[in-house]
Parts: sequence; C-alpha cells; structure tokens
Amino acid sequence: MTPSSSTLHLADSDASLPFYAAQAEEIALFEQAWRNQLPLLIKGPTGCGKTRFVSYMASRLGLPLFTVACHDDLSAADLVGRHLIGDGTTYWQDGPLTRAVREGGICYLDEVTEARKDTTVVLHPLTDDRRILPIERTGETLQAPSDFMLVVSYNPGYQNLLKSMKPSTRQRFVSLRFGFPEPVREREIVIGETGIDIRLAERLVALAGALRTLKEHDLEEVASTRLLIYAARLIQSGFDPLEACRAALVEPLTDDEETAAALMEVVQVNF
Ligand code: ADP
Repeated sequence: MTPSSSTLHLADSDASLPFYAAQAEEIALFEQAWRNQLPLLIKGPTGCGKTRFVSYMASRLGLPLFTVACHDDLSAADLVGRHLIGDGTTYWQDGPLTRAVREGGICYLDEVTEARKDTTVVLHPLTDDRRILPIERTGETLQAPSDFMLVVSYNPGYQNLLKSMKPSTRQRFVSLRFGFPEPVREREIVIGETGIDIRLAERLVALAGALRTLKEHDLEEVASTRLLIYAARLIQSGFDPLEACRAALVEPLTDDEETAAALMEVVQVNF
C-alpha cells in the first residue's frame, strides 16, 4: 500500500498489544473489513510485517486468532478437521478454520498460495455472502458468526505462476498491499523490536535500502525488516557488525558466493 507521510501512526501505547508500527491506513481498513464481514487478503514480501499486523489487529479487536502456516501438503482436513481414534472410539476434532467459525475470531492462512488449490476451495463458501462452512464428514453446515473473519496472505514476488492465486479466489477478498516500511518507520520498528541506538538503526535501514535496490543479482528475495532485526540483535549482543550483516543480511539471501561477495561490498560501504 502507499505509505503516506501524513499518517505516521506508531504502535498504540497500550502495552497489552503487540508492537506494531502502521504503514498507512491498514488498521482502519482491517477494522472496516471486519465490521462489514469481508474477507481480507494481504500481499507483500516475506518479513515485511503481515503476520505481526494480523496478530496486532486480533489483540486490538479482542478476537481469538487461529493461524495456519500453509504448505503444499496441507489438506482440506488440516483446515476443517478430521475423525481421530482414541480410547477405542472415534471422535471428531475441529481444524483451525472450523474452530474459528464455531467460536468466532480470525482465521489467518499465512502463505496461502503454498496450499494446493483443491485445499483452498473449502474457503469459497466462507468468502461470499453465505459465510458458511459445509463439513462433509460430519454432515454439518456451520454459519459463520458476525465476528468471524478470514484473512489470507501471500508473497506475490515469487515468479511462480503455479504459486500465484487463482483469480477467482483472489477476487473474493478485499486486498491490501504491504511493502517494506519507509526508512523512518523501519527505523522505529528496528528500535522498537531490539532497543538498539538510533544511529545504528539508521545505518541498518540505509543498508537495507541499498541492498533492496540491487536488481542485477537476480535475488529471489530482498533484505526484509525481519532480517534487519536479526542483524540488530547480533550487533547488540556484541557481534562484529560486518559479520552480523553477513550472517543476517547476506547469507540468507543467496547461496551464490559471487553474489554474496557483491552484497558484502555494499555492506562495507555502509558500515
Ligand atoms: P511477514 O508475515 O510479512 O513475513 P512478520 O510479520 O513476521 O512478516 O514480520 C517479521 C518481523 O519484523 C516481525 O516479527 C517484527 O519483529 C518485525 N516487523 C515488521 N514490520 C513490523 C511493523 N510494522 N511493526 C512492528 N514490527 C514489525
């Protein structure tokens, strides 16, 4: 989404909420989506704050959060539930999606495009105005309560068509695009998460900016806010800054030695 300098809201001072520095109007959008019973899709690169945002919003709205990290083996039963055998009898156990529908709350499917398309089909009746979850195995059809919300996220940066979202699924969601935060905000985040001093935070954020502009190395991913926080933690605990940046900002991004050496040159210019 487009950051706007007029809306620099940092995290609420309420200590019971997870720390979250807003990028733009996403808090208001999430609240409105929830109030209007609309499902939400958040797209953005890995480590830019999508998961933190969802847990912040769940706490802010006082809702239980059911998170599923999607992967290519995830079955519909993993989401909906299955019969289990115990004490000589068979009993039904709700999956996280069913629990969120039964109990109310947010069901968050992280990296939803990793899941097989036939798995995500179970989401369809929940994402239109019926808001129902048919459970074939038990014969039930659950009606989602008003405080149920489905949130999914994915990283559109992967150049993998098989892993993109089906247009027919995508257009069932209100969508929000996340990018890496503006430098001032990213600095606040690094300080908020690690307590490092402002000058070091500034250097790390400038370094991330420089690393993110390197297009010629064909990196699949760029330095994320998460990796910046790792680097800050290592430096804060006494690790040599160059080595900390190598371990947290260079090696996680590439296996190619030449590319790593080129990235280290950028680190050296900034440190
Ligand atoms: P994603 O889900 O997009 O992969 P995360 O939400 O897990 O990324 O973010 C990675 C880490 O970066 C978080 O654990 C948190 O420390 C930090 N972070 C990123 N963005 C923010 C933000 N806006 N406010 C607070 N912390 C953030």
